[in-house]
Amino acid sequence: MKHIIVVGAGAAGLMAATIAAREGAKVTLLEKMNMVGKKMGITGKGRCNITNDAPIADFIAKTPGNGKFLMSAYQQFDNRDLLELLHSWKLETKVERGGRVFPASDSALDVRNMFMRVFKGYGGILHLNEAVKQIIVRDGIVKGVITDQETYYGDAVILATGGLSYPLTGSTGDGYKMAKDIGHTITDLRPSLVPIETKEPWVKDLMGLSLRNVELSVVAKEKVQAKQFGEMMFTHFGITGPIVLSLSHTVGKLLKKKNMGSIQLLINLKPALTVEQLDQRVQRDFITYSKKQLVNGLKDLLPQRLIPVIIELAGLAPDKFINQISREERMQLVYILQHMPLTFKQMRPIAEAIVTAGGISVKEFVPKTMESKLVKGLYATGEVLDVDAFTGGYNLQAAFATAYVAAQHAVYGDKK
Ligand SMILES: Cc1cc2nc3c(=O)[nH]c(=O)nc-3n(C[C@H](O)[C@H](O)[C@H](O)COP(=O)(O)OP(=O)(O)OC[C@H]3O[C@@H](n4cnc5c(N)ncnc54)[C@H](O)[C@@H]3O)c2cc1C
Repeated sequence: MKHIIVVGAGAAGLMAATIAAREGAKVTLLEKMNMVGKKMGITGKGRCNITNDAPIADFIAKTPGNGKFLMSAYQQFDNRDLLELLHSWKLETKVERGGRVFPASDSALDVRNMFMRVFKGYGGILHLNEAVKQIIVRDGIVKGVITDQETYYGDAVILATGGLSYPLTGSTGDGYKMAKDIGHTITDLRPSLVPIETKEPWVKDLMGLSLRNVELSVVAKEKVQAKQFGEMMFTHFGITGPIVLSLSHTVGKLLKKKNMGSIQLLINLKPALTVEQLDQRVQRDFITYSKKQLVNGLKDLLPQRLIPVIIELAGLAPDKFINQISREERMQLVYILQHMPLTFKQMRPIAEAIVTAGGISVKEFVPKTMESKLVKGLYATGEVLDVDAFTGGYNLQAAFATAYVAAQHAVYGDKK
């Protein structure tokens, strides 16, 4: 019987350990926190967006950090395979807007508990409160690991220590150091899917305001570098929400480039309308509220809290009566409604990122098996690898698929 050591009991580690145990290996799962899947417990705002209903091509497209590396893993274990497996383990699921898949119970804890029940059912051994410090390698072959308490010898080691974000969940980057110590390359680590700080002081006045169906563009060197449609929110420091998090990946890349100058973020509050259509819409409201002051005439068009900010950005006087507003002034308003400007200040720190971009170089791993090209018997899975995706269940699918593949190959070697 093979002995497989899994380092880290997050999404990837739980999947890898459970599959290896199911396939008949002796499995030791080592977790440094006092519970498994701490981060998994807070995913999807506590509901755990397990995967997405999209075709696999979309998964690759939604994985800007080395999506192609995952192709082979997804050919072996895609979203349908994941859901079939979870259903066989008695976890019911449901599909929501945008193809997002959640547990039917809306509880991330149910996913975590399911893994524990099935893993233990297959005879897996779990050690909590035990941190792995070092991977033992002799003559290019993995031999085991050294923890803060013991040394374990095994036939394969599956590294699943996660990234650097939300360190209170246990993801403190230990795996990067351990991999580096045995010769692996760690690419530049940076936050991805992270809120953005902006320079404008008025964002504070809008704190907590959510905008739906808007389009956010990233502009640098007078060119739109990327844009996203959907939902965003103002905070005391700037902006967050799904489209901001997704665009943060592009901003992170721009920051690495030289001479990019300042980065602007433009919100189109009415992306479904052309300039002419929006102008007609504003004119209709101006007829309805012609005897009111501007500040009291935009409530059908905008959320109340946004009105004074938009008027100021358009350079108009809030107390001006609508029937005295010139065409030119109206066009200034129309323009701002589709180009509400924010100036990028900085990213929030990596600790606040949903995922870490960068990690153990995927060039040093075989995509079909997740085995290291440098150390035989060493596998890496999940976020510790230089792989990162957008929101929508794509990161957990990446963790689950890489883990599934690694476990299969760790147990069966080249026979699978
Ligand atoms: C707030 C938030 C919400 C998210 N929501 C979603 C979502 O809904 N859908 C989605 O697809 N993705 C989501 N993500 C991303 C997703 O959680 C991660 O991509 C995923 O958890 C990565 O899994 P992992 O197993 O690689 O790492 P982790 O889940 O971080 O697990 C790593 C584990 O390794 C342990 N560990 C670390 N070092 C050691 C060591 N030295 N010894 C022993 N154990 C160690 C850690 O304690 C931890 O338990 C979210 C992330 C955050 C922060």
